[in-house]
Amino acid sequence: RADSPVVVVANRLPVDQVTDPDGTTRWQRSPGGLVTALEPFVAGRGGAWVGWSGSAGEAPEPFESGGMSLIPVELSEEEVDRYYEGMSNASLWPLYHDVVEKPEYHRTWWDTYVQVNKRFADRAAEVAADDAIVWVHDYQLQLVPAMLRQRRPDLTIGFFLHIPFPPYELFTQLPWRSAIVEGLLGADLVGFQLPSAATNFVQLARRLHELPTRGPTIEYDGRTVTARAFPISIDVAAFDELASSPEVLARAKEIRAELGDPEKVVLGVDRLDYTKGISVRLNAFQELLEDGAVEAPGTVMVQVATPSRERVEHYVHMRETIEQQVGHINGVYGSIGAPAVHYFNQSMPREELAALYRAADVMLVTPYRDGMNLVAKEYVAARGDHGGALVLSEFAGAAAELKQAFLVNPHDIAGVKNQLLRALRVEPAEGARRMRAMRRYLVKHDLDHWASSFFDALRAQA
Ligand code: UDP
Repeated sequence: RADSPVVVVANRLPVDQVTDPDGTTRWQRSPGGLVTALEPFVAGRGGAWVGWSGSAGEAPEPFESGGMSLIPVELSEEEVDRYYEGMSNASLWPLYHDVVEKPEYHRTWWDTYVQVNKRFADRAAEVAADDAIVWVHDYQLQLVPAMLRQRRPDLTIGFFLHIPFPPYELFTQLPWRSAIVEGLLGADLVGFQLPSAATNFVQLARRLHELPTRGPTIEYDGRTVTARAFPISIDVAAFDELASSPEVLARAKEIRAELGDPEKVVLGVDRLDYTKGISVRLNAFQELLEDGAVEAPGTVMVQVATPSRERVEHYVHMRETIEQQVGHINGVYGSIGAPAVHYFNQSMPREELAALYRAADVMLVTPYRDGMNLVAKEYVAARGDHGGALVLSEFAGAAAELKQAFLVNPHDIAGVKNQLLRALRVEPAEGARRMRAMRRYLVKHDLDHWASSFFDALRAQA
């Protein structure tokens, strides 16, 4: 049925399959912010969402949910291994994050990536109405724009990359660099988190493909492709409201009591990923303890490190390193019932995260490279009391917007220690001034602003 005027194409569908205690299964809306942001544009107008269900094997039939047609794309076990865990998460992810870990390149992974991208493009081509708007998402599907355009030249196609886009010198390592650039050039509008990423892309088109470019535009195949930054955000009002609810405030108080009523709480919240610089901040905290600049249990650190990509080798090693480090710090600086670092290899619900944000004096966000980092924005949104201080890596996309954070270079351990100490000792008035300024910015630049800016820009290309 080619009748959807708006089509979203993303690796995952906006729903997860859950099994109830009585053994019946049903679809439940995914918790992620992307779903919330896009639903208003897709739902209620016969819009469709093309994506993978999350489990390998035969795909369910298309079904309606939340006012959208959901179009499941089938992936076999082998395709999940090669397209998703291999090419997406062990080649492209490290390459696009400044080669923090060495990317692996395998031709079998690439071949499967091409094959799976084609399947996503086919599904989208089948459901899109004449002259529909199609918005393709992220690094798993970079070939879809060109594949889709080939089948359906009538469509207006947008693409948004949620992760960083590397400079020419790194990107050109990729054995399939030309195919990726050509894939993206199938779109009318290519969106990035940062202006510098958009510039990297335009430069590639010029240097690698010798295409004429002018500012943010590229002339290709008789069309004009625009590359621009659209920094993603969060539902600021909803997070603010959650974090100032009586339940969350009570839980924040309780957390501090459970931590032994320390003077200062330092918090980290990340997926357990090598790009996040979790070791850096443990090192910095450990050295401050060694120096005597901070003392446990007067100052404690809480690190939530959510399990992630546990079948990819780098992630297994990294987890071992971090857990050894936590063990070492607690062995030396902890006492019975009072560890210096409280470490959780668990996924926390939003309510608990909101309470942790409210309970933390300093939020430490130190990625080596991060497309945006929503945790940093959530912390600011949660601090309606204007308390707390944010230490933020210059290499997170969020640093371009949250300029009043205590910015750090995560490769400079002395600098991280210094800024952490400054944040721990900031005068309340100065801390509140910084927090207020960041909140003022975020309120205007929320998730809805992101989605509507992109859709408006895309419609303008139609
Ligand atoms: N998150 C969560 N539970 C956890 C840890 C993280 O719900 O235990 C959420 C967090 O609130 C944020 C998202 O996961 O919305 C992480 O986004 P971010 O951009 O910081 O990093 P990513 O994981 O996308 O690299």
